[in-house]
Amino acid sequence: MTTPRLEVRLDRIEHNATTLVERLGARGITVTGVTKATLGSAAVAAALVRSGVAGLGESRIENVEALRRGGVVAPITLIRAPMPSQVDRVVRHADVSLNTELATLERLSSAAAGQDTVHGVILMVELGDLREGILPADLASIAHCVRELPHLELRGIGTNLACQSGVAPDARNMAELSALAATIEAATGAPVAIVSGGNSANLGWALSGAPVGRVNDLRLGEAVLLGCDPLDRRPIPGLRTDAFRLVAEVIEAKAKPSLPWGALHQSAFGPTVAATDEGTMSRVIVALGRQDVDPDGLTPPPGYRILGASSDHLVLDGGSHVTQVGAELSFTVDYAALLRAMTSPFVTILELDAP
Ligand SMILES: *Cc1c(COP(=O)(O)O)cnc(C)c1O
Repeated sequence: MTTPRLEVRLDRIEHNATTLVERLGARGITVTGVTKATLGSAAVAAALVRSGVAGLGESRIENVEALRRGGVVAPITLIRAPMPSQVDRVVRHADVSLNTELATLERLSSAAAGQDTVHGVILMVELGDLREGILPADLASIAHCVRELPHLELRGIGTNLACQSGVAPDARNMAELSALAATIEAATGAPVAIVSGGNSANLGWALSGAPVGRVNDLRLGEAVLLGCDPLDRRPIPGLRTDAFRLVAEVIEAKAKPSLPWGALHQSAFGPTVAATDEGTMSRVIVALGRQDVDPDGLTPPPGYRILGASSDHLVLDGGSHVTQVGAELSFTVDYAALLRAMTSPFVTILELDAP
């Protein structure tokens, strides 16, 4: 089989999504399943839809269009604020978008008018992580403007934490979001149906047993795909952390010294960590590099240790394994490694329905 290949176990993704849909459902919270790390995979989207997500979330219009071409009919929310130059495509293919700028909202309304349709809007609020979001003091006036734009429908409000600055969702910022929903309702006289509390980093808060207030939706990618909590990258009990594995092929396996020789300068990717002298060791090279994956996000098979990576070579300590040239080694991936592998033209994606 071709290498490198990223094997995607759809049944494990579906298991994770079903588990989270049930756990959050008990708290009155629906799941928007975020497929962005899979480059708009229709098969992954279908697994999420089978698990009972309320809708899908995608950050790029190209991926939304890929999902539609792949036959996905579920509601899709564009979870990055639309580029003003792309509003026609956004209105055509996404049901809802997350927004923070009035200028873009005006263009979305015009685009929706041109297509004789109504586009749904969730206004994102800045609650301290300092990525996207309207400052709380400005939210009511922008909500009012959305209500005045004839081809937009204000569906709700949302926030995003733990992405830019690592600010954790907690009782205080989530209570602020709930309070803002009430403020908007009072100011506009219309109900705020969706209160989208955040991403996978919200799970600890949402499942803690503390009151969830008005929060009734979470947008989940990493937890569903990789089964771990982005706040500490620890596995979430009951979820599979092995839905993805990256398989690469051994192109060299030799006993070599553990210390380099010659005058030492920077390597291809900057300063190196000094190696320790372990005498002669088994050094294994697989045909995988920074053009395929983020090597820092790989976990090698037991008994192997990653020593370094350049554009096209990943060098491992083979330990006591007898590794043959041509053998395949499987790695698990973190979010950064998954994103890069999915985006690399050199990696074949193999979606598997069953074991
Ligand atoms: C990526 C993203 C998500 C999903 O984040 P995960 O940590 O993968 O769950 C949710 N909302 C927004 C706005 C995002 O950009």
